[in-house]
Amino acid sequence: GGSLASLDPEIAAVLEGELGRQRETLEMIASENFVPRAVLQAQGSVLTNKYAEGYPGRRYYGGCEEVDVAENLAIERVKSLFGAGYANVQPHSGATANAAVLHALATPGDTILGLSLAHGGHLTHGMKINFSGRLYDVAAYEVDPETYRIDYDALRAKAIESKPRVIIAGWSAYPRHLDFEAFRSIADEVGALLWTDMAHFAGLVAAGLHPNPVPHSDVVSSTVHKTLGGPRSGVILARDEEPWGKKLNSAVFPGQQGGPLMHVIAAKAVAFKLAATEAFRDRQARTLEGARIIADRLAQPDVAAAGVSVLTGGTDVHLVLVDLRHSPLDGQQAEDLLHSAGITVNRNAVPFDPRPRASPPACGSARRRSRPAASAPRSSPRSPT
Ligand code: PLP
Repeated sequence: GGSLASLDPEIAAVLEGELGRQRETLEMIASENFVPRAVLQAQGSVLTNKYAEGYPGRRYYGGCEEVDVAENLAIERVKSLFGAGYANVQPHSGATANAAVLHALATPGDTILGLSLAHGGHLTHGMKINFSGRLYDVAAYEVDPETYRIDYDALRAKAIESKPRVIIAGWSAYPRHLDFEAFRSIADEVGALLWTDMAHFAGLVAAGLHPNPVPHSDVVSSTVHKTLGGPRSGVILARDEEPWGKKLNSAVFPGQQGGPLMHVIAAKAVAFKLAATEAFRDRQARTLEGARIIADRLAQPDVAAAGVSVLTGGTDVHLVLVDLRHSPLDGQQAEDLLHSAGITVNRNAVPFDPRPRASPPACGSARRRSRPAASAPRSSPRSPT
């Protein structure tokens, strides 16, 4: 017994302080979201007490009858949401989902070809000190220096040259749709597998506002907590159970993880149910509209005169990449300035950035909170999430 406030007033104060911060500031970090109360309720529940190693109906612990229902609901709902024939809802995070995907599709020493970290790729797509860069031979493709978009002829040439086992489509900082048909045909041409990491844009896909990678990819991974609006966690999908389902399941458990977080899986089930609603679709549409308004405003001549521009001139998605290379402000200064006005953003390197340590902010979309924050700016070097 005993409430959090009485047992641990210091942590209770953190929760209260963070709630206040989220209410008082405008959160523009593209990888963040506000989950519905129902998701918080499922996640903050007694399911956290349960061990359930294994999969529904095939557990290594007794007493899994209730959590089996939750996991089966999560699986069926996410399959239906994305038109997938296979789903694994156990990954604790996007990074562990990605570790399992590579574990299933490739053997250490194989070549993987992903978007370079400096050009918007994720750490798990081959960054040097990440498991992906340590275990696999990494080739990277980049964006075009003129358009800042992926040049599919250059990608094809890179794939022919590097002969990857796996080509990775997906990004942490790239403001445009990907051409999944082009990725598929390049993968087929060089005999590679295609893995799409849709962590950032999964919510847009669920809402039918972004091309769906599932029909074109061998495997698709995602986080659940970015545009999808669920608990912090990951998910792995494929068009069909065959040929990768069994390998993916054993790559997640026991390959990468022990006991699944059943409270988080229940919260995923809730999020997947809500993501199939008209209200969710409407929210994603407004998110896109908000991002477009920001991009349009930042592309105006008065902003350009200050040395600030929008990478690729706009956005197809929920994020806007602001290019500060010709601005007297570096990314840290811009982040601090916005923070002092109550707007929270995150800094990313932009491609071909000569100042990668002091790189510009990637604005999120319009999830509205309007009061300025009073707290002091702080700094930390970072990479895209
Ligand atoms: N994949 C992509 C494309 C991401 O942007 C992120 C964000 O961090 C991840 C994977 C990793 O997710 P997590 O932070 O849950 O490990």
